[in-house]
Amino acid sequence: MRSVKEPMRLLVVEDEKKVSSFIKKGLEEEGYAVDVAFDGKTGLQMAMDRVHDLIVLDIHLPGLDGLSVLHELRMGKVSTPVLLLTVRANIEDKVLGLDAGADDYLTKPFAFQELVARIRALLRRQTEAKLPVLRFADLTLDPARRTVFRGARKIDLTAKEYGLLDYFIRNPGRVLTRTMIADHVWDYNFDSMTNIIDVYVNYLRRKIDSDREHKLIHTVRGVGYVLKQE
Ligand code: CA
Repeated sequence: MRSVKEPMRLLVVEDEKKVSSFIKKGLEEEGYAVDVAFDGKTGLQMAMDRVHDLIVLDIHLPGLDGLSVLHELRMGKVSTPVLLLTVRANIEDKVLGLDAGADDYLTKPFAFQELVARIRALLRRQTEAKLPVLRFADLTLDPARRTVFRGARKIDLTAKEYGLLDYFIRNPGRVLTRTMIADHVWDYNFDSMTNIIDVYVNYLRRKIDSDREHKLIHTVRGVGYVLKQE
């Protein structure tokens, strides 16, 4: 459950500082928490490191452009809604953006109220998808809000940790090999992934199981991991 004290968190990736500070200020007045990145690489990193409810992404960015950021996010299984911004109604940008997995599109210059209306619509659409809340033991994962609780305690996960837990909680009691985890959560080749998977499972464990009497994520030696009560 999202309490009043936890506003929805948005990420704004926009290199024009006047525009990004205008958007940030306006959205904060609307009650959102706002992170800002001024280039694509930083924006991508922030989107991977922390779960956001929505990303406002400028297409024309220095270094890594907006479409590449979007592509990387979707490849990394980050499904956060993305609202793309561009300078002109360039049909090619629009098509490429939607193909790359953007959820909506806004042409600059825009009225702030239109931006807010689009953001509200996207957030509502996502919440209304009414994805069932997943539970295992006292662990709760709410896909519509992308929140995780163990008992009454909210657990903040990075996008990758969230993806990993999502896979575990959809397969309770089933031994998940590193190959399976690599396939489902990373989409990458297994051989290069072994160590990374162990590292991320350990991050997740630290957040879910440390200081808990009943551990939920268990190692199956030489095979992989299993979510179970013991
Ligand atoms: Ca720009």
